[in-house]
Amino acid sequence: MLEHVSMFNPYHMAVQQFELAAEKLGLSEDMREILRTPKRELTVNIPVRLDNGRIKTFTGFRVQHNVNRGPAKGGIRYSPDVTLDEVKALAMWMSWKCAVVGIPFGGAKGGVICNPKQMTPGELERLTRRFATEISIIVGPHSDIPAPDVNTNPQVMAWIMDTYSMHEGFSIPAVVTGKPLSIGGSEGRNEATATGVLFVTRRAAHRIGMPLKGARVAIQGFGNAGGIAARLFHNEGCKVVALSDSQGCIYNEAGLDPTAVLRHKQERGTVMNFPLARSLRPLEVLEVPCDILVPAAVEGVITSANAGRVQARIVSEAANGPTTPEADRILFKKGCLVIPDILANAGGVTVSYFEWVQDLQSFFWGVEEITQKLEVIMNRAFDAVAQEADRYNCDMRLAANMLAIARVAEATQVRGIYP
Ligand code: NAD
Repeated sequence: MLEHVSMFNPYHMAVQQFELAAEKLGLSEDMREILRTPKRELTVNIPVRLDNGRIKTFTGFRVQHNVNRGPAKGGIRYSPDVTLDEVKALAMWMSWKCAVVGIPFGGAKGGVICNPKQMTPGELERLTRRFATEISIIVGPHSDIPAPDVNTNPQVMAWIMDTYSMHEGFSIPAVVTGKPLSIGGSEGRNEATATGVLFVTRRAAHRIGMPLKGARVAIQGFGNAGGIAARLFHNEGCKVVALSDSQGCIYNEAGLDPTAVLRHKQERGTVMNFPLARSLRPLEVLEVPCDILVPAAVEGVITSANAGRVQARIVSEAANGPTTPEADRILFKKGCLVIPDILANAGGVTVSYFEWVQDLQSFFWGVEEITQKLEVIMNRAFDAVAQEADRYNCDMRLAANMLAIARVAEATQVRGIYP
């Protein structure tokens, strides 16, 4: 987590956003109490044998927020900074995200406190297999389906799928999504989050009458979401002027070639010192002159301290929780259109849903069919949120939250309180 946001608590922020929408919806206090509290929080302490023979105990979490619309769904992140409150916030956002795009899942998230960059592949595999075993008491293809998130990838998903399957005695691909294609992964899943970001940004650009061709784009984070988004925006004819990772930011007002930057990052481990670009400090990526800003790294980076200096006309949130409620107010006031995380990055969970359906049916679709189905869902969700924002004259985050929370509240209400 960045130094200036070390006091930042994502769960407090998620609850604050929830309360704003709940108030506007007129939800009862009883319903608010149900929806602001996660259904399950599991903490596990897992001993892992390191390559040097020592044993280190790691702490991990799995949180399920609300499962009234379907099984819980959400990624697993590996990070030295992950906390239970962060995972609770991310699980809540997953409930709203699945509801806003209308896919039949509830919200979950997981995390392990570790630094994968300092671990060997063998250590990571043992950590993953032990974590998968410990959380298997609540995870399963019909109860809770993990996926990749920060610092986890298809290989990690393959280890989780294999571990779960070993315990059951036969292959159960539907227990995780974001797997490699060879074991039941889906075409298009790797690019899905970035593709969804592009679809809704196109819609937003059209809404404000801004041509995408030639638009200047700045992207924070150069991993699965940000790295692929850079390539897609570049292919769309946009000018990618700034890219960043945890080490810093590179900027060139004439535009950067994302494929060349990716090669550079693969060789050097960072985007920094890319030839033909100026090096800036990590957070400066948020303030460079641009038309579209895509935060695609971590939470709490656009705050009341820097929102006034954001120059973009559209902020498309590939990351979860990048903008604080105070920053939201500042951006809305100055006419910046923020496409909220639960809508902007929902392409990932939507294609995860396609992967799960394909695994359950053992019947697989082609990439054209997947991209086309994704576009229909993303466009429909964008239009519904935009309509809600016009109706209430509010920002798109409040509109998206209202739409989503009303759907989850309705499912919770109609199922009733057991017993
Ligand atoms: P990733 O691990 O592939 O990439 C993360 C990137 O962010 C890396 O380039 C890293 O260097 C950079 N980064 C980390 N800390 C940073 C900092 N403080 N400042 C600047 N850059 C920093 O992770 P990802 O899967 O791309 O996820 C990124 C964000 O997108 C997260 O918020 C995640 O929850 C969200 N998201 C991802 C998916 C998905 O399918 N991968 C789906 C929905 C949302």
